Amino acid sequence: MTLRLNVDADAWRSHHRSLLEQVPGLVPVAKGNGYGFGLENCAREAVALGVDAIAVGTAHEVLPVRLAGWSRDVVVLNPWRPADPLATSLLEDEHVISTVSRTRDLDQLRQSHQRARIILELDTTMHRHGLRAADLDHVVTAGLALEGWAVHLPANGSLEEATALARAALAHQHAPVWVSHLSVADYAAFSTEMPVETRMRVGTRLWLGAPEVLATTATVLDVHPVKRGDRLGYHQARAPRDGFIVVTSGGTAHGIALAAPVPQRSLRQRINTIADGVMRAAGNALSPFTVGGRKRPFAEPPHMHSSMLFVAGRRPRVEVGDEVPVTCRMTTTRFDEVVLGQR
Ligand SMILES: *Cc1c(COP(=O)(O)O)cnc(C)c1O
Repeated sequence: MTLRLNVDADAWRSHHRSLLEQVPGLVPVAKGNGYGFGLENCAREAVALGVDAIAVGTAHEVLPVRLAGWSRDVVVLNPWRPADPLATSLLEDEHVISTVSRTRDLDQLRQSHQRARIILELDTTMHRHGLRAADLDHVVTAGLALEGWAVHLPANGSLEEATALARAALAHQHAPVWVSHLSVADYAAFSTEMPVETRMRVGTRLWLGAPEVLATTATVLDVHPVKRGDRLGYHQARAPRDGFIVVTSGGTAHGIALAAPVPQRSLRQRINTIADGVMRAAGNALSPFTVGGRKRPFAEPPHMHSSMLFVAGRRPRVEVGDEVPVTCRMTTTRFDEVVLGQR
């Protein structure tokens, strides 16, 4: 019983190479669930791409990319904080570049970790982490290895914002500039304009930028005929019509959620359904599984490793062992198998 991500590996890799050609200085981001592929696959693809640095989200993600074979520089994107012992131990690792986003942290590192390799993150209109313009006057990096300034922009970030922030930082101290979320064209313009080396951290556009080379499927595990009014599932909801329960692989453990909105129902009804966590009658919430050419409702909320769907009518349209398409949110899905093959 398998929730599977099928990747046309040749086409996927040719997308990686073409993006790398357009984005000199690209730094692959391998974080979280590895955008559905797993951190290990991202690390191996980054090795094959021949880039000199990879970025991970947290200190905990450094080991997994190394175990997959990555041995060059690793940038930790989440800023270092004094209370994080693992992140602190990595300050002494010669292939780890840590992000610093507060002057107090910088001052502490100057005392405690001479020679740490750091990137200083600037506050942007994101306002997630970063030094503000007024902080720049208090930035002293003496003793530390300043690998660059970081500008983490909102989605579709603005070239003007990136340029203004980078200029202010470079006026204080020259170092490479690492950006996130510029378009390919804006990044090219930015690189031309900057008097220093530029890098761009890219996850989504790299791993998920060619969706046509990916296919996500679930296995049909069981098919049962039901009559209207029959009770079913943990919650013993009633079948709304004559039809079939189709049981597929893929459940809450994989990140399959009872969240697909049904357009014809009101927002309030939807909120109630989700808030209840239980459907009063089977077949109220559209599932991400496609059976017989269209998305089918859940018969009840997804289980840990499987989902019960309701297929109305006289034919179930699938049989045990079939693979059916399932729409997955790639950053929250944990696939049982990622198959790098031909399609
Ligand atoms: C996650 C992250 C990225 C990559 O974002 P994508 O939208 O997946 O390309 C880049 N920079 C930072 C700081 C991030 O946290």
